[in-house]
Amino acid sequence: MATTIEEYDLIIVGAGILGCAAAKAFGSDNRKVLLLERDLSEPDRIVGELLQPGGMNALKELGLEDCVEGIDGIPCYGYGVIRQGETVEIPYPIDSETEKQAVGKSFHHGRFIQKLREAASSTENVTVKEATVNSLLREENGDKVIGVVAQSKADEESKYYAPLTIVCDGLFSKFRKEFTTKTPDVRSNFVGFIMKDLVLPMPNHGHVILAKPSPVLMYQIGTHDTRVLVDVPGKLPSVSTGELKKYLQGTVAPELPESIRPKFLEALETERLRSMPNGFLPPSVNQNDGMILLGDAMNMRHPLTGGGMTVAFNDVVLLKDYLSHENVPSFADSEVILQKLNEFHWKRKNYCTAINVLAMALYRLFAADEDADLAVLQRGCFSYFKYGGLCVSEPVGLLSGLIQRPIILVYHFFAVAFHAIKIEAISNGWAGAHRSFIMFFTVLYAACVTILPYLWSETKY
Ligand SMILES: Cc1cc2nc3c(=O)[nH]c(=O)nc-3n(C[C@H](O)[C@H](O)[C@H](O)COP(=O)(O)OP(=O)(O)OC[C@H]3O[C@@H](n4cnc5c(N)ncnc54)[C@H](O)[C@@H]3O)c2cc1C
Repeated sequence: MATTIEEYDLIIVGAGILGCAAAKAFGSDNRKVLLLERDLSEPDRIVGELLQPGGMNALKELGLEDCVEGIDGIPCYGYGVIRQGETVEIPYPIDSETEKQAVGKSFHHGRFIQKLREAASSTENVTVKEATVNSLLREENGDKVIGVVAQSKADEESKYYAPLTIVCDGLFSKFRKEFTTKTPDVRSNFVGFIMKDLVLPMPNHGHVILAKPSPVLMYQIGTHDTRVLVDVPGKLPSVSTGELKKYLQGTVAPELPESIRPKFLEALETERLRSMPNGFLPPSVNQNDGMILLGDAMNMRHPLTGGGMTVAFNDVVLLKDYLSHENVPSFADSEVILQKLNEFHWKRKNYCTAINVLAMALYRLFAADEDADLAVLQRGCFSYFKYGGLCVSEPVGLLSGLIQRPIILVYHFFAVAFHAIKIEAISNGWAGAHRSFIMFFTVLYAACVTILPYLWSETKY
């Protein structure tokens, strides 16, 4: 069997969220780009369906804003958080760029991906091929990546060479382990299905229901379709034995608002239940000669706050600048590229730290079923949101990628902790200095276990 050999400036592995955006960005900068994707048909997945306003802005900067049009997408103006029958609205803040209320968009992931792929393939200098990358080619007597070996659906093997390869092959990345010892920490799975023609309590908002034992997400992704994602902590009950369905009917359904429950139960009878692991993977510095690991392959957070695509698009905006023709005339100049990637790692913390840490901290808090200390903090957090104003606009500005100053997160972290102490003291009474003293440390401890481990792993080199 003959092996085809071709040369490019840049090879991108994976035409998902990050790969398509990167192909368009670097192709537009006159680099000869090859984008390799194992399956170019429309994906049918339960991921990447709500794009935050900060992601919309990045999409615009990449000239890809049309990709959210013509796919029956639904504008999203913020969140509704529901706890024990009470709802608090968390609207997106005013976008400083447009001076209007910020807006996100939710849609069917597959339709959006196909639009991104069309945009990539119609960009000058970009070639898109359907092939699975099986291995990376390395320089003889060295570690530098110089290309890839890929196999087409017709079983033809090709070797593609380039001085730089971006690997963005997603959360189940085949190549991650070759470049980092970090592995995703998976604590739960999302089980997803569609509910037909449901009117949510707050239309055009993402819904987070603080159910027990774990949160449930809902958002409309098309005229007739509402996505539900149920977080199932620990080992997933079996689908084939019907255990999962029983769990959703018996444990989750009673936790939902009455207006939603009938459609939820109806969908359980007709829809296919699908699941995805929810992982946390702190970012690593790219120190690999000839290759960059990006997207979910390099950095992940719990999807509760829908931040993955926003981080991915912002990464492309930043990287296209660091690796522009002006900054790096040739991708063969490994030394300059490694130096730029080091700068990129620290600069991206402006947006990714808050998104990553908030996703994980809010998840721990919202899934505070058995832990009494975390439950105190959960109540405090919900009540803090009820204040509105900055108590809402800054946290949601951070998680939606609109505010890129992670220090604000630290302020709100302490504000929620002190607020939780206050309402606990008010509701239980100040039974002497001793009790208040214990309560103070209990709540502060709970706040620390939700945020500090993630802040720490974010800032580790
Ligand atoms: C349950 C769930 C819900 C989520 N919901 C949201 C949300 O609402 N909003 C949000 O912003 N984020 C969400 N995310 C996160 C978001 O989906 C990811 O952050 C985003 O898709 C990452 O993009 P990526 O390009 O790294 O990977 P992907 O988009 O997964 O793309 C990887 C691509 O690589 C291809 N590929 C893999 N291996 C190979 C190979 N060997 N050769 C060639 N091609 C290959 C795959 O086919 C795929 O097309 C969610 C995640 C989960 C798990």
